[in-house]
Amino acid sequence: RALANAGVQKLTPYQPGKPVEELERELGISDSLKLASNENPLGPSPRAVQALGGLLDQLARYPDGNGFALRQRLARELDVEPECITLGNGSNDVLELLARAYLGPERNAVFSAHAFAVYPLACQAVGADLHMAPAHAADHATPYGHDLEALAARVDADTRVVFIANPNNPTGTWLDGKALYDFIRSLPGTTLVVVDEAYCEYVEEADYPDTTRWLAEFPNLVVTRTFSKIHGLAGLRIGYAASSPEVADILNRVRQPFNTSTLAQAAALEALDDTAHVQESVRVNREGLAWLTAACRERGLGYIPSVGNFLSIDVGREAEPVYQALLHQGVIVRPIAGYGLSRHLRVTVGRAHENRRFMEALDQVVGA
Ligand code: PMP
Repeated sequence: RALANAGVQKLTPYQPGKPVEELERELGISDSLKLASNENPLGPSPRAVQALGGLLDQLARYPDGNGFALRQRLARELDVEPECITLGNGSNDVLELLARAYLGPERNAVFSAHAFAVYPLACQAVGADLHMAPAHAADHATPYGHDLEALAARVDADTRVVFIANPNNPTGTWLDGKALYDFIRSLPGTTLVVVDEAYCEYVEEADYPDTTRWLAEFPNLVVTRTFSKIHGLAGLRIGYAASSPEVADILNRVRQPFNTSTLAQAAALEALDDTAHVQESVRVNREGLAWLTAACRERGLGYIPSVGNFLSIDVGREAEPVYQALLHQGVIVRPIAGYGLSRHLRVTVGRAHENRRFMEALDQVVGA
């Protein structure tokens, strides 16, 4: 252990949810409902799945290491040059590439309290200092949301990256275009602003920013996105960064040459074309989120208003035993004490019958 670098020694590994099969075996149940990892309850686009079948005879060959077709397609979609796109093995991969390329000892990264857990992990692994800014308070108009003033106050001459999740996981809070634009403009050009938009497709607020349109103006802006959420391809691992060509060139220097698979690239291309599936996923999420929040209000349960595909619910007591009791009912959600929210459980928005089953189980457990 002592042989690992200092940052890694202090690191607590990311705790993904257990695989459903393992949990079911442990609990002696079947027919569980997993609403724990913000996956798309509709699954992937059927077109994406179909495309995979035709590729199985290519598995002996390496994938296209440059992801030519997908980068072209994304560039067209975002109205940028293909040289601005870096593909990753999930957007996690891209976040790690950013940390490896821009951070290290004597440098620091700024992020908010309650922000996505991978930021501190990726930064610690390369020995960078972590500058965590306080988030808005529980009684703020955006409870637990990113506080841009507090983030700006944590930036100093050694800050190389500011991570901002918009919307953020696990709070579901979001930043509007004007606030975010002014924030980016206020930062020195020597600090990268990484805007993590893993859930952007779900957001329907009018002043949610179209950040990729700012790339030409801000060479230090990096926007990351993923096929894991709205496109339902979490198992294939594919995401990307859109940035200036200069940043993309740097990321490509540390990227593994074949970091995205043939199957992932092909499925991502099909998923982008299947706009009907995207729209249906947004609709199911909108209705499910509205139903869940109404159900919370009826029961007098607090929640953090969310624009993502998940809702963090204040269960009114320590959430861990509630999580365990839900597990015994076969309902798997996510405790988020590790994010400083020990009374909240994060539930992924499911289909109508799944949301109902979750609420019925919660009623049993917390005694509504
Ligand atoms: N960013 C945020 C805010 C997330 O919640 C997640 C997934 N939990 C990711 C990035 C990474 O997702 P992936 O690596 O599957 O693209």
